[in-house]
Amino acid sequence: MSMDIIQFSHLKEVQSLDKMIKKHLDIIQEQSARRDYIVKIRHTRETEKEGLLIESKDHTASINQFEKELFDWEKKLEKALEQLPMAKSEQQINALQKEQSMAEENVEHLQDKILSLLEEQEILESKIEECISFLKGSKLTLDTIDKEILEVTQVEQNEIDKYEIRIKALLEDVPDTLKLSFLKARKKHRFNQPLSRVMQGGCEKCRFILDKMTQSRIELLQTVEVCSQCERLLIPYNA
Ligand SMILES: [Zn+2]
Repeated sequence: MSMDIIQFSHLKEVQSLDKMIKKHLDIIQEQSARRDYIVKIRHTRETEKEGLLIESKDHTASINQFEKELFDWEKKLEKALEQLPMAKSEQQINALQKEQSMAEENVEHLQDKILSLLEEQEILESKIEECISFLKGSKLTLDTIDKEILEVTQVEQNEIDKYEIRIKALLEDVPDTLKLSFLKARKKHRFNQPLSRVMQGGCEKCRFILDKMTQSRIELLQTVEVCSQCERLLIPYNA
């Protein structure tokens, strides 16, 4: 295997091209994070709306039920009032008055209940309206963002493609052993320096100390070594 310092400079170029690619990937990522945020708040509002709809349905059922009860008590009250003038004894009067006051109490109580449920129902309905209009508006935002993402992704991807072509060409000039070790290190550290220089007797990035023999073989381009601690490809100090 013949290695040349130029091959290390190819790898260093790949490393800096990867850094450029990362910037473009970050821009794409930012856009999709913006989208994720909107999807998330839409989901929250959707759930809120569903809860409110259930609540409102329960309210309607309760109102209907209380109205039925109210109707019955109104009838009872009416009947008691009708019968009162025809009462024939003190006892009967007392009984009818008791019925009357009980019916009045219930009518009043049910009317209050229904009134407050109707008020709550109105609030629920306006909250539901708010959710619906928020969801409608944010759907438009989402559609706009989707279009923007498509455009931005296209632009950024074109840039990335150019770098990828250059990277491919550079790697073609690197011998297989070196290339395979580099690709392995790059798989783990693609955007965080897959290459590490040998400095002060060890790996510059993680400070793992190498034996003297390995150090000098790396310096003399006689071996391909990967740091056994951080798994970066080790390159000569002056590469
Ligand atoms: Zn290391």
